[in-house]
Amino acid sequence: MSTTEARVAVVTGAARGIGAATAVRLAAEGRAVAVLDLDEAACKDTVEKITAAGGTALAIGCDVSDEAQVEAAVERVVRELGAPTILVNNAGVLRDNLLFKMSVDDWDTVMGVHLRGAFLTSRACQKHMVDAHFGRIVNLSSSSALGNRGQVNYSAAKAGMQGFTKTLAKELGKFGVTANAVAPGFIATEMTKATADRVGMGFEDFKAAAATQIPVARVGEPEDIANAVAFFTGEAAGFVSGQVLYVAGGPLD
Ligand code: NAP
Repeated sequence: MSTTEARVAVVTGAARGIGAATAVRLAAEGRAVAVLDLDEAACKDTVEKITAAGGTALAIGCDVSDEAQVEAAVERVVRELGAPTILVNNAGVLRDNLLFKMSVDDWDTVMGVHLRGAFLTSRACQKHMVDAHFGRIVNLSSSSALGNRGQVNYSAAKAGMQGFTKTLAKELGKFGVTANAVAPGFIATEMTKATADRVGMGFEDFKAAAATQIPVARVGEPEDIANAVAFFTGEAAGFVSGQVLYVAGGPLD
């Protein structure tokens, strides 16, 4: 594939939030984007935003933790957009609770979406990247990978994403494929709004309280993360691999 041809990108969890901003950003850079999420209809807004700006996008309903659905989704991407050579593993869920109250289902659901999901999509897409001798995999980790009260499942999954990323970088580098992780701090999305709801705070107050702990004195927006992902997926980032970039408005303790 020549570098002037549009590369095909798959962004998971792209119906809203960070995934939607990332899909829009990659499309603005000329990528044809497969917008994956649990519910195909929910991907409509992201797809419309991309096509209204003159880009190419395809909505696909897919549970990333389901092997057959992931295989079918990637086959559909190949048929309708072309072979995917950019993959952003962004789909995510929270099932927060203190350890003594956490159910096995809370644990399995979080592991299933983040780790099993990233494994299944990466395995399904890698052959296309190897064939093209070009690939960019970006995995969404989190500042919670460093440990966060009430998130023993999520922090383990997000730390796992970092080990997964570094191993992909080592296995796939010789095929022209890089793998990197972006680890956001507090980003204003439905996910953080749900946390505010759960602790009984208004979202504006919740964001303002979070901002007092962030050196740049504001919370992040989905586009802040999309910008970092765009760097790692770029043609020029071929010598950057196996890295974890914390995008949190400052250093983390
Ligand atoms: P979000 O607004 O909750 O969006 C996540 C999207 O993923 C939703 O559209 C969700 O669909 C989808 N999804 C959930 N399970 C899925 C599955 N099994 N298969 C396919 N799609 C699935 O979250 P966000 O804040 O944009 O977060 C995006 C990523 O960044 C996540 O990996 C998250 O852990 C990470 N992150 C976020 C923050 C933050 O502060 N927001 C910080 C650090 C890391 P449904 O709506 O149907 O569930």
